[in-house]
Amino acid sequence: MIPTSKPFLPPLAAYVGYLEGIWDRVWLTNNGPLLLELEAALARFLGARYVVVTANGTLALQIAMRALDIQGEVICTPFTFVATASAPAWEGADVVLADVEPGTLTLDAAAVARALTPATRAILATHVYGVPCDDDALAALASRKDLRLIYDAAHAFGATYRGRSLCTFGDISVLSFHATKLFHTVEGGALVTEDESVAARARSLRNFGTLSTGGFGEPGTNAKCSEFHAAMGLALLPQVPELIARRAALSAEYDRALMGLAVDRLQSRPGAVSNHAYYPLLLPNERAVLRLQQALSGQDVQLRRYFYPCLNTLPYARAGALPVAEAASQRIVCLPLYPDLTPEQVRSIAGTVRQVM
Ligand SMILES: *Cc1c(COP(=O)(O)O)cnc(C)c1O
Repeated sequence: MIPTSKPFLPPLAAYVGYLEGIWDRVWLTNNGPLLLELEAALARFLGARYVVVTANGTLALQIAMRALDIQGEVICTPFTFVATASAPAWEGADVVLADVEPGTLTLDAAAVARALTPATRAILATHVYGVPCDDDALAALASRKDLRLIYDAAHAFGATYRGRSLCTFGDISVLSFHATKLFHTVEGGALVTEDESVAARARSLRNFGTLSTGGFGEPGTNAKCSEFHAAMGLALLPQVPELIARRAALSAEYDRALMGLAVDRLQSRPGAVSNHAYYPLLLPNERAVLRLQQALSGQDVQLRRYFYPCLNTLPYARAGALPVAEAASQRIVCLPLYPDLTPEQVRSIAGTVRQVM
């Protein structure tokens, strides 16, 4: 079967090399040397000041809410993975959804401005498929209205915007290192911030509220990253440029094979360099999506409707009509894209897309 995405593993020897160190030290978790090495390597790779690695991206979102003292309303994008909305709801926030821009499908700053109330405390926007949000507009609005700005940058690893890692914007950027992501630690995530006190608080919150000076502060959780997970990240990180290059080549193959076809593409933003984490297409309508899904499944190819359904179907999220996000959710598909996919497989999948269209 050809899945939509497939985890990539580093050479086993690279991972085993790190395991030998773990066996020597018998230091398995709790702020171990491999975790510290991974955090330093990620800070260098991303050009970020502080990187706090966690057990997964969802806990990183929850910790971000607490590290920035966000209670009340959070205005969130409806076109994202469910965790972007469920994590703030889990933290007791009122999740209010505002519509996305038609071109990029990222949170529309004008729609956020219309959704503001006196209870609004934060904006939570996703760089969906690694396409940058309109940071100028969102950051200006946040600053004018004294709101915190969190970016869900789970899709943004390796993408840059205006010469800077897309994982370094906002008060906090949250990353996911889940196995299906471009870079992963099997399960994992991180908070990225420029603010030393926010980083210190996130470190305390991920470790039961333990203070660096000893003793305990506010209630924390257990969102620690083990040495085994950190080892996976360290073994994989040197391969990221090569992985992005392979994804870029496969995306270019899709582009060539689908040239001239009447399907809408997502727009990017000037100054953005893609990480080619996904290959999204907007088909003309939902019927075409279902037809394509069926035709591909007959060839043992999985087509994900990513993201479907629109998050205004969540029982805990408040939203008015979201015409852009709703229509996009009906029409979006992500074609299979992962480093081991072959150009022949890409051409065969693209051929089926052409036939169905
Ligand atoms: C994967 C993902 C998450 C959740 O991350 P986990 O590490 O699986 O908890 C959150 N937001 C987006 C946009 C994602 O793609």
